[in-house]
Amino acid sequence: MSLPTASHVRQQFLDFFASKGHHIVPSAPIVVKDDPTLLFINSGMAPFKDYFLGNKPAPFKRIADTQKCLRVSGKHNDLEEVGYDTYHHTMFEMLGNWSFGDYFKKDAIAWAWELLTEVYKLPKDRLYVTYFEGDKGDGLGPDTETQDLWRQYVAEERILPGNKKDNFWEMGDTGPCGPCTEIHIDLRDEAEVAQKGGAELVNADHPQVVEIWNNVFMEFERRADKSLLKLPQQNVDTGMGFERLMMAVSGVKSNYDTDVFQPLIQFIASQVGLQYHGTAPATVTDQPTTENEKTDIAIRVIADHIRTISFTIADGQLPSNVKAGYVIRRILRRAVRYAFSSLNQKQPFLYKLVPVLADQMATIFPELKQQQQFVQRVIEEEEIAFLKTLENGLRRLDALEESARANGNRIDGKTAFELSDTFGFPLDLTALIAREKGLTVDEEGFKKELEAQKNRSRNAQEAEQSDWTIVTESEEQPVFVGYDQEEASARILRYRR
Ligand code: ATP
Ligand code: MG
Ligand code: MG
Ligand code: MG
Repeated sequence: MSLPTASHVRQQFLDFFASKGHHIVPSAPIVVKDDPTLLFINSGMAPFKDYFLGNKPAPFKRIADTQKCLRVSGKHNDLEEVGYDTYHHTMFEMLGNWSFGDYFKKDAIAWAWELLTEVYKLPKDRLYVTYFEGDKGDGLGPDTETQDLWRQYVAEERILPGNKKDNFWEMGDTGPCGPCTEIHIDLRDEAEVAQKGGAELVNADHPQVVEIWNNVFMEFERRADKSLLKLPQQNVDTGMGFERLMMAVSGVKSNYDTDVFQPLIQFIASQVGLQYHGTAPATVTDQPTTENEKTDIAIRVIADHIRTISFTIADGQLPSNVKAGYVIRRILRRAVRYAFSSLNQKQPFLYKLVPVLADQMATIFPELKQQQQFVQRVIEEEEIAFLKTLENGLRRLDALEESARANGNRIDGKTAFELSDTFGFPLDLTALIAREKGLTVDEEGFKKELEAQKNRSRNAQEAEQSDWTIVTESEEQPVFVGYDQEEASARILRYRR
């Protein structure tokens, strides 16, 4: 069976909303340079924040696009899910349509349904929708308007109430907000659906019953005193995960089995001389139980992370030891680590994936193809430096072996922490290598050391707690993150000046 292509499915979305009078705009860069409160774009509406806040007039009343998004810090952090589940990525595309004081709930819902069932031909009886159940504290009743609109299209048992967490969107502590309606799809096999039903699986982290689209109806403004003010102008803000939509239209059970990820995955597998099996543990808490699962997870992590690394560099953020650059460096190292420990890659290798990705995205995001060589060089240099760190850590571990044997075959927490903090040698790698040497690691002790350090210095990530927050002055200070390159101490002196 040939898979629907990413470019076709994406274009269908844009064409559909163009036919409904929307102006199609290009994605904003994923890296945010002019907003002290946000490091990366984390939703489709983020570039339009000023229109919603009333700081600038929207240039068009109806806009649609695909926006590169990154969810690796602050309020939205999906990093730990990546590779283990099948539908959270670090970087993903959010397809969106917006109304700035134009259409509202009725049209948004009608078009969402038309697009999903008539253009994409998703099975109607596999779609669930939610509406806001209300909130006593805010004096809001259930959003019966949305519930009634859905009744025209969806059977009653698949229209579900949802709580404030899932069904009421707020920009931050103050600002625009309003109820939302989510659309979920059940991609389980017939037999399982017939046997077990499905409604209770919505928003329950089931890997095959996933949220694909969120439609936010901004009708209030949250005031500083926490009260809600009804806005004179009503806006619509929607976001649909493109990779999840691809999973749904392809009739597969994982985002990684779609045309978005398969070229990368097949390339990685051939490079490392392994097969990708496509077996995913049911939830993120499951540990891989077989070698195949372990290598599959590593392949997924790398296929995911290379997108984040490549596009952030192409959009102007180099890996570094501070703030956004540090986030990127950590993701890059996470990918190297998986390649090193699960796929036995001891030489730089991630940079070779860039051309595959650049070709794949050339028509929609040409910025990567245009800077392909530069992006490759930056990644390769980072890989070389971090692999050196890993080797140094390995040597340090060898040197520690004797004292660990004298210590009941155990590497104490302080030492494990020192390896991670000073040598950039992560705990899971220490544990892995220790196991190979017949040693254990005092992980509790490590955690205590880590906690103590966290209390001492602020974490770059803590800056973002809501979609927008004010970064305080102390948070502007660079963070010391360990020696990771030979010239690291010089670099740190420079930052500490
Ligand atoms: P989830 O509950 O699955 O974490 P969400 O409620 O956090 O999703 P929204 O903030 O509502 O997501 O974003 C709109 C859409 O973007 C979601 O319906 C989903 O399709 C997609 N999406 C959100 N986070 C991710 C991610 N990490 N990777 C891929 N797609 C995502
Ligand atoms: Mg989420
Ligand atoms: Mg959700
Ligand atoms: Mg949502």
